[in-house]
Amino acid sequence: MKVLQACAEFYPLLKTGGLADVCAALPRALGAHGCDVRVLMPAFPAIRAGVPDAEPLDTTFALAGGARLLRGTLPEGSTCYLIDAPMYAQGTNPYVDAEGRAHADSHLRFALLGRVAAMLAEGLDGAWRPQIVHGHDWHAGLAPVYLRAASSRLRRWVAGSVFTIHNLAFQGTFPMSVRPELDLPAEFFGIDGLEFYGQVSFMKGGLVYADKLTTVSPTYAREIQGAEQGCGLDGMLRARAADLSGILNGVDPRIWNPASDALIAMRYDAGKLARKATCRQRLQAELGLEAQADAPLFGVVSRLTEQKGIHLVLEGLADLVRRGGQLAVLGSGDATLEAALREAAAARPSRVALRLGYDEELAHRIVAGADVILVPSRFEPCGLTQLYGLRYGTLPLVRRVGGLADSVVDSALENLADGTATGFVFERLELGDYLAAMRRAFALFQRRSEWRKVQAQAMARNFDWEAAADGYAAVYRSILA
Ligand code: ADP
Repeated sequence: MKVLQACAEFYPLLKTGGLADVCAALPRALGAHGCDVRVLMPAFPAIRAGVPDAEPLDTTFALAGGARLLRGTLPEGSTCYLIDAPMYAQGTNPYVDAEGRAHADSHLRFALLGRVAAMLAEGLDGAWRPQIVHGHDWHAGLAPVYLRAASSRLRRWVAGSVFTIHNLAFQGTFPMSVRPELDLPAEFFGIDGLEFYGQVSFMKGGLVYADKLTTVSPTYAREIQGAEQGCGLDGMLRARAADLSGILNGVDPRIWNPASDALIAMRYDAGKLARKATCRQRLQAELGLEAQADAPLFGVVSRLTEQKGIHLVLEGLADLVRRGGQLAVLGSGDATLEAALREAAAARPSRVALRLGYDEELAHRIVAGADVILVPSRFEPCGLTQLYGLRYGTLPLVRRVGGLADSVVDSALENLADGTATGFVFERLELGDYLAAMRRAFALFQRRSEWRKVQAQAMARNFDWEAAADGYAAVYRSILA
């Protein structure tokens, strides 16, 4: 099965969130399932630099706007196509400028991604043609649209299409005035097509025109069919419920594995948990936290946004410190949340540490060195940090929502008794619920042998990419059948 994956991020070349981890892990995992997966991306500078062997493709197709198509090899071995166009060279963030505003040419940046995906399905590379085009998030939302347009124009089936929602809240909506620049027949802009409250929505394009839809956890697949999390698209998702499935993301063990992680102070596994204490000591020293071991160290590695429930971490901080706990935060995002965290860390530097910015290596050291990883999200399509926490015996404290609900089992008495507990789960996005879960974490921490048992249960949970790849391969097969 030949599959083209169209996406905007790819770990470790370019990453703004979990999307990059998924897009990098999936081609390899699918390779083991007999899929021949190639990756199509814009040649953003960081991506171009990571594919030094990329060469222009010899093709008779003409790309718009002085663009060229390159073919090369990704660090993990997959073949990729890079769209080399002058607009992609502007700025370091693929989506926003230095002031955090969406690039003025965003619609063109990502329309071209969708368009070239469809052209590859039409035969742009004479030597390789995908049977399935798999687009990720709104950036690739127009891939199924251009594919449908190509099928109508050529009056034949061109390729199957899959569209994966990693976060429905980011939709890629643009004013109707961009319409002529998208070069699509008029019928695509109606209420049953790209139109969304008077605008053009790339996300909706993917949802309407892809043969099959997936999202990154079974619970999120249900949640987005309701008004609360449907972001205005729940009606249309309900209409497509039969084509929508939730496939939980996996963890790439080559990158996130405490037994082989070169970025952490001391490697460990479930049989050598004493070594994890060394990771904590080193982390405390690195962050200027007091060297204490009798109360839990809580970690946050996250975009600092409203979605991630960071306001609860702030509201619950006095309680956390009063109980003797510590907090280590790595992240960046919302200026108000950053300022509040900065103030909290300055007020109690031996108990609260903050590192603003993006730091892959420190992320590993926090996941390894903390006792609890906090993910109290308002909504969470899948969430990766709690999966990393489970693997590292760093018990996740999460809200029961989206992929968090699908991956963490609360340390309630019955779950402790059954041997299924792996972390701490609370229901409502309210301080009382959050604090109750935190209290369970403090209480369990004092029962050392039970804590270690839950750690072992967490580490034994296997969220691997094989299961996810199985799920995606089944979706592809259902289209080709
Ligand atoms: P989202 O994609 O919504 O941001 P996920 O949990 O799916 O959330 O993925 C976030 C990914 O980004 C994880 O791999 C996490 O470790 C990483 N990450 C988030 N913030 C930072 C940061 N400041 N520094 C390093 N890695 C980060």
